[in-house]
Amino acid sequence: MKIMPNRMDRGFYKYQEEFEQKALEVLRSGWYVLGKEVTGFEEEFAAYTGAKYCVGLASGLDALWIAFRLLNIGEGDEVIVQANTYIASVMGITINGATPVFVEPDMYFEMDPDRIEEKITEKTKAILVTHLYGMATQMEHIVELCRKYRLKLVEDCAQSHGARFDGRMTGTFGDVGCFSFYPSKNLGAFGDAGAVTVNDEELAKKFKAFRNYGSEKRYYNMVVGANSRLDELQAGMLRVRLKHLEELNEEKTHIARRYTKELKNSRIKLPETAPGCTCVWHQYVIRCEERDRLMQYLEEKEIGTIIHYPIPPHLSEAYQYLGCQKGDLPITEHLAETVLSIPMYNGMTREEQDYVIETINEFK
Ligand SMILES: *Cc1c(COP(=O)(O)O)cnc(C)c1O
Repeated sequence: MKIMPNRMDRGFYKYQEEFEQKALEVLRSGWYVLGKEVTGFEEEFAAYTGAKYCVGLASGLDALWIAFRLLNIGEGDEVIVQANTYIASVMGITINGATPVFVEPDMYFEMDPDRIEEKITEKTKAILVTHLYGMATQMEHIVELCRKYRLKLVEDCAQSHGARFDGRMTGTFGDVGCFSFYPSKNLGAFGDAGAVTVNDEELAKKFKAFRNYGSEKRYYNMVVGANSRLDELQAGMLRVRLKHLEELNEEKTHIARRYTKELKNSRIKLPETAPGCTCVWHQYVIRCEERDRLMQYLEEKEIGTIIHYPIPPHLSEAYQYLGCQKGDLPITEHLAETVLSIPMYNGMTREEQDYVIETINEFK
């Protein structure tokens, strides 16, 4: 049996008729950018998360960098960010000329709330929290720190659609929640798409203008903006998927429960969920000291896996200019050498799950 790390086609066929019907509706409407599908999605996604406003954008990276731009964070400012995140989080900071300050993760792979305060300087302007792998971060202490030091709080929710801390959705704790709807995400489009959630009406308006060349009224431009519009076709697809997001997350949770219950191999560490947090299992990430040998073994058994992520941002070529060295962030670096994401996707059959479980349990 051949198993791929992800199967995006399964997520399409699950609701094929609804997707196709909506696609035809949009194609036949004659209106393709910033119309009723985008407005409809923004209202529905805001309602789903519990945020006051949602603004659709072209990608998750755009959501991040435009957020820092509109919060006036740039040259000379520092933003605290977890070190083991996807590099796009860091790019959201540095595109504006601001400096990322890295914090090590806790045992749940999330930003360690106890390691943040020591990194705060008078240049610190914001904290960027990534709810990594679909796991909500414990937000209590982070929200407190932001109040105490008057810092902006931005959440990278590209992997956490629907994950909650203390019953509250990720993306609603701070100033801006940044979402990606890249096809492989829990709420995926059929191309690139993104959005922000915000509670401040003025800020929501600024996002709406910025994504459209800085203009609220056609040909009247208030600021130098960007073209970062969510298109009608993707918005329509997202409205279809959003209706099913809770059941899709539930399905992944079921698979994760099976993995956690049935994976038994002393060489492998399973992920744990932090108290008060829920996880929507964007990835199911195991750890193994002999990760590369395990990956090779699974490949021979035709089970595809992915490393999220093999090179932490501070050691990436793109960030050489920050001057970080190997050894600066030992927890993050050790994770990069030991983490492995095993197959986890909507529409994964019971037989596929059985095969993954049996094969991993037989790894010697
Ligand atoms: C996917 C992802 C992004 C970037 O989203 P795009 O839509 O691909 O630009 C940012 N941060 C994290 C944590 C991601 O997983």
